[in-house]
Amino acid sequence: MKTTVRRSSAGLGLFAKEPIKKGEFIIEYTGKILTQKEADKKGGRYLFEVNSRKVIDGSPRSNKARYANHSCCPNAEVIIKKGRVLLYATKNIKAGEEITYDYGKEYFDEYIKPKGCKCKKCQK
Ligand SMILES: [Zn+2]
Repeated sequence: MKTTVRRSSAGLGLFAKEPIKKGEFIIEYTGKILTQKEADKKGGRYLFEVNSRKVIDGSPRSNKARYANHSCCPNAEVIIKKGRVLLYATKNIKAGEEITYDYGKEYFDEYIKPKGCKCKKCQK
């Protein structure tokens, strides 16, 4: 495991345990596969829309990727490959550094904006 979960400025966060190179795979976002309909019914902030038919319910704690926080200046990005949600480094990440990605406008406006963004860039 390249990552560990510990406290960050925005609650718990996902941190690099060892240096991670730019372009390197970090972790997969895992959970129960739901249809769009089931996801709409369930709601919640850990639903990851893979495509128009498939949503991953990443709420179980075993899904460590759910602890990766949003940042407006992230060091990772999500790439969807064959229906899987994979997190890759977009920068060289040092051991001990928090791993973040951009959650996208929809999520940001719904969940982050009302409370104010806690990412490093916005806290400056
Ligand atoms: Zn921010």
